[in-house]
Amino acid sequence: MSVLSKVKSLLGPDVVLISHKVADLQPLQLDKNQHFIDCVDLSQNFSYYSPYYNNYSIFSLYHQANTLLGHGTLSIPDTSEACAIAMMKLFNKFYGNPILTLQACTTLATVRPPKSFARKFNYTYEGVCLSSFREDYCSCGAPIIK
Ligand SMILES: [Zn+2]
Repeated sequence: MSVLSKVKSLLGPDVVLISHKVADLQPLQLDKNQHFIDCVDLSQNFSYYSPYYNNYSIFSLYHQANTLLGHGTLSIPDTSEACAIAMMKLFNKFYGNPILTLQACTTLATVRPPKSFARKFNYTYEGVCLSSFREDYCSCGAPIIK
């Protein structure tokens, strides 16, 4: 049985998926109502609108976890298991509580995150391009994720 088949066998129409970016789930080819009933995108749940800049800030899972759950909750890089546990803790602590979530978004916007791993190494590490989202830092020419 493939890993994907094993994952799908654990899912069902009563499952709520928690993700930091729902688009990351697309390669799994999951069908709504068969594999899950709903999906919560924590990157959107904790987005922050700045009237001054007239835009939304989206924060990394690392910044969310270490700012809202405690410093050292996640390290860079960390395991998928640690990320999944952090996402569940964020969901359990904030989801369904709009006042607490709004306070969390304000905190995320005011606490400056440390330099990302990619930025620390100028978006190239051991010859591997680390820029998935910014064309101006990409050294490999792969399509940019939007
Ligand atoms: Zn690249």
